[in-house]
Amino acid sequence: MSFPSPIRTSDFEALRDSCGRVINNLRISVTDRCNFRCRYCMPENGMVWMKKSDLLTYEEIDRLARLFADLGVCKIRLTGGEPLMRKDLHRLVKRLAAIPGIGDLALTTNGYFLEEQANDLIRAGLGRVNVSLDSLDASTFNGLTRRDYYAKVWKGLEIVQGLGVGPIKINVVLIRGVNDDEIGEFGRLARARQYIVRFIEFMPIGLDDDWSSEKVVPAKEVVERLEKEIGTRLQPIERWGRQPADRYVFDDGIGEIGFISSVSEPFCERCNRVRITSDGKLRTCLFSLEETDLKGPLREGSDDEQLKHAILEAVWNKERGHLINRPDFVRPGRTMSQIGG
Ligand code: SAM
Ligand code: SF4
Repeated sequence: MSFPSPIRTSDFEALRDSCGRVINNLRISVTDRCNFRCRYCMPENGMVWMKKSDLLTYEEIDRLARLFADLGVCKIRLTGGEPLMRKDLHRLVKRLAAIPGIGDLALTTNGYFLEEQANDLIRAGLGRVNVSLDSLDASTFNGLTRRDYYAKVWKGLEIVQGLGVGPIKINVVLIRGVNDDEIGEFGRLARARQYIVRFIEFMPIGLDDDWSSEKVVPAKEVVERLEKEIGTRLQPIERWGRQPADRYVFDDGIGEIGFISSVSEPFCERCNRVRITSDGKLRTCLFSLEETDLKGPLREGSDDEQLKHAILEAVWNKERGHLINRPDFVRPGRTMSQIGG
């Protein structure tokens, strides 16, 4: 679909697509590298990392983020790969926290380096942290991540909690037969620690993940199992809000649970996100088969209006929805770590 012409970016108080969705949430991947090897994300061996010179510099990320903020983006999440593997990430956080209009600056991490970096990141202006923790059993965790880092991730979590930032969210990718027997344990964690536990449905996007629809544990089933295990009903709190995560709280008000149900209950019609990969490609859907290169124009000297034009046009053409549940679904050619999950 062609973008309305002529393009007068000053007319846009918000970044919109052709379906009328307002895009205010930008996920920025800062690296494709990772020190874990989660089975649903990447293979143990053979990952070919991007060349360092292909990664956007912090100056380039800052410039793009400012343009997105001018166009109405108010939330930024840093991700990867493992974002804390990028040197001195707090320097980038400081720059992004200073952008007018960015009210929410968050990080998704595997937690390994939080022990060393959390203090600098929070002081630089990071507002929130999501930590991926797929099991509360050390041997299951180590099996899933192919690393023996369970205790260190917990150290990092404790440090973030001690710094008083929050709410801390725990991302759990549930895989039937692997960690779904821990649904109740995660419910108890949400109640005991005031972490928001978010169950993410296993998605067909990795390279080594052995995905099948039978391994997806649908949100509906998780709600039923949680209620049974905890003995308390869950009440929806933001069921039809703008957030992709559906949020619930236990009836007694203790313990929040979120769901990212991309497979069983796609939230495409409410999607408010776009992504920039670490090599500077704009992706308008996690499952996009096409990307818009921003790094090339950036490095070739495009001015702000030209870059905004490219952003507006790409966002205008954002996919109506993903096709996971259709026979003609085609997996994107990149892993979640390369896209920036
Ligand atoms: N390394 C960081 C981490 O693990 O939190 C950030 C990047 S990781 C790609 C972002 C999120 O994507 C994590 O919560 C991870 O569990 C999730 N993820 C990766 N592959 C997935 C898959 N196939 N299905 C569902 N979620 C996935
Ligand atoms: Fe690394 Fe995150 Fe992928 Fe796990 S999910 S391999 S921690 S990028």
